[in-house]
Parts: sequence; C-alpha cells; structure tokens
Amino acid sequence: MTATSSQQVRGGATPREPALVDADPAVAQAISREEERQRTTLEMIASENFTSRAVLEAVGSVLTNKYAEGYPGRRYYGGCQFIDEVETLARDRAQALFSMEHANVQPHSGAQANLAVYEGLLDPGDPVLGMALDQGGHLTHGHHVNASGKLYRFGSYGVDRESETIDYEAMRHAAQELRPKIVVVGATAYPRIIDFARAREIADEVGAVLMADMAHIAGLVAAGAHPSPAGHAQVLTSSTHKTLRGPRGGLILCERELRRRVDRGVFPGHQGGPLMHVVAGKAVALGEAATPQFAAYQHQTVENARALAETLSEAGLRLVSGGTDNHLILVDVRPKGLTGQEAESALDRCGIIVNKNAIPYDPLPPAVTSGLRIGTPALTSRGLGPQEMSRVGELIASVLEAPADESLAGRVRGEVSEICQRHPAPGLPAP
Ligand SMILES: *Cc1c(COP(=O)(O)O)cnc(C)c1O
Repeated sequence: MTATSSQQVRGGATPREPALVDADPAVAQAISREEERQRTTLEMIASENFTSRAVLEAVGSVLTNKYAEGYPGRRYYGGCQFIDEVETLARDRAQALFSMEHANVQPHSGAQANLAVYEGLLDPGDPVLGMALDQGGHLTHGHHVNASGKLYRFGSYGVDRESETIDYEAMRHAAQELRPKIVVVGATAYPRIIDFARAREIADEVGAVLMADMAHIAGLVAAGAHPSPAGHAQVLTSSTHKTLRGPRGGLILCERELRRRVDRGVFPGHQGGPLMHVVAGKAVALGEAATPQFAAYQHQTVENARALAETLSEAGLRLVSGGTDNHLILVDVRPKGLTGQEAESALDRCGIIVNKNAIPYDPLPPAVTSGLRIGTPALTSRGLGPQEMSRVGELIASVLEAPADESLAGRVRGEVSEICQRHPAPGLPAP
C-alpha cells in the first residue's frame, strides 16, 4: 500500500472520494470562516463554549450513519451492539456525575428534553408552573409562542422588583393558586444561586413534581460550583453544550419511579432515532466532566465572572441583582445611555461577542432591551484568569462609554486579537 492510499484509508474515504474543500467549496469556506471567527473573537455569550477535540471527533464520526430507535438492549433496528455500548457509557457517566438513578441521553437539545418530560408526565391542558421568560426563564417554560405554552396551562413566577432575585413567596402563591402537576425551576438569564430545597418544599405542598432545568449551570453543578438539584428535584433536564462543554444536545435525569414515563416521553413520544454521533460526544464530555481539571475549570469560570462583575460595576454599569454567583452577569446598560441592542453591536464591532437581553421589568421590547447578558465559560475554556477577565471588563466598559469612537474600537479590536493569540481556543485545529 502506498503512503497516499494508507492516509486515505485512515481518513475513512475511498481513494476517489474528494475532501469537503473539493467536494463543496462553498460550505467548506463558510465553515473555515466560522472557525477563524471563533479563533479571533472573544466569545462571551453565556450559553456558548468550546468542546474538546475529542468531543468534536466523536461528533464527526461514522455513528451519524446509524439508526437506533429504542434504548440499549431494546432497539427497533439490527446492528446496534456498538451503539448500545456508546449509549450505556453516556447514561452511566451522566447518572454517576449528577448522582441520579436514571439518565436519558437522547434528547436532541435542551428544549427537546423539556418537551419530552412534559410529554411523559403530563396530559395536554395540565397545569404547570415555570419562570417567566422576561424574568430570566426559558421559552420552553410555558411561553405562548412555544409548544409548551400551547399544549399546557402554564402559570409563571419571577423575581422580586427590589432584590431582582427569585421571589419564592410569589412562587408559593402561584403554586397554591394553580395547583400545577410540575413546578419548573431553572433559568436562562439568572446570575444567582437557585434554592432547589425551597422550590421542592413549594412543589411538595401542592403535590407537584419538581423539575430543575439546569441547562445553563450543569457544568457548575457537576463540579460543585453551584448547589445540585439532585436530592431535591425528581427530574433534571439540561443542554449539554453550555457550561457542561459537550456537543450540542440535551439530557434528562430522573428518579427510578419516573424512568419509564420519561423514556417514553423522549421516544416514541417526542423523537424518532437518536443522534448517536452526538450521544458519543456526550459520553466523552461526561467523562471529561468527572475529572479534577474540569472541576477546577468550573470554579475558575465563577471566579472570572466575579472579577468581570466587579470591573463593570466599578465602571458605573448596573448589575441586575447587584452581582453574580455563577457564570454570567446581566448588565443594565441604561446608565451609559444605551439600549441592549446598541451595546451588543458596539461590542460586536470590536470582536467582543455578547447578546442583548431583557432585564427584569424591562421597559423596552425584546428586540431592543435594556441589558446585556455576559458569560465567562468560553473565555475560561481558553484559559483566561481573573486578571485578564478584569482587563476584558475594562475594554467592554470603555466601548460602552464611547460606542461611536472609531479609533477606540480599532485599539480594542487589536487588544482582542492579542488576547486570542495568547489563549488559543481548545478543540480548534492550529491555524
Ligand atoms: C438553553 C436553555 C434551554 C434550551 O436548550 P437548547 O439546547 O437551546 O434547546 C432550555 N432551558 C434553559 C433554562 C436554557 O438556558
């Protein structure tokens, strides 16, 4: 065998099959530009992160070719012996990592995980209580544009106007009034610790199941950097690609008694065949999440968020709830005379990527908003520490102080490039 053909065999392609760059230059170029964008900008969207090279490899594997409807040992397709090994590894690792009796690793995303739990545990029209989207909750917690809000009778709770932290008394009142079958806790834009024990008391009082949607904080929970909902919530749902640093996907964990209903809610209730290449990526990520390095990373993420919060608040910005306990901060940009939309685009121009976000009781519409949501998971994955995070905070503050200053934008862009060069993103091939 010649050197060339052996390389081709190792690469998995028959000699006549062209590489992506030759087969489809348009797609290949867009991917390559996106890779360059990730390499050269500061990713501060709180829900984004960098997976490891090992996770990327698993997700890019031949497992994408395989149908595997059903669960390990109970499939509707032949040839599933290796697929079963992969899914069993992922399930066992998830159960051990989060100390829960059962795991379902098939949901295609966090949203699918939530809808599958509702499908498994509820009938259409049943009452459910969730956190309102405009207070920090998620679309799948009953928003009227989402299937959750159309299929079930959702009530909502939110945060206290003064403290801007979850109003558990309001949650209790809403629960007593609605008598929900499920109480959902968990948020997409909430910078403080969630009191799962208190939420469980409230759910118990009305005979509801407590479901903790830990999509944002799963990595922190795995590392003990945020209290775990395990032992309080009977059902946990999550995305796998946020702080958890896995591939884009979802996950459900539950107590033994609920496992059949949860599994049926996913398949056949909500999905067909699982994305087994992604399940393999989840298995790898869940293995990584059990290491001491991962725990150190999560604690660093929280420390970095605190450093960033301090810098921004010293620079005269108002932080919702006054600060942060987790991986994100919610900034009220009105003190600088800006809207969230203006702040987002001013930073984007400098290579600092964040998203505009409603703040609680925001007077502006969701397409404009008064706030920014800024997270530290991705930059911490690049290896930034608190001092560098403070420097990034200074850059953000300077841009928000003078969003139209072209020469400042140029200087900030230059410093962003230097930081990116000093801290290469994990998972990306060398440039
Ligand atoms: C991100 C998120 C989800 C949805 O996750 P997707 O993977 O985007 O579907 C659900 N719930 C919460 C609280 C989230 O933050």
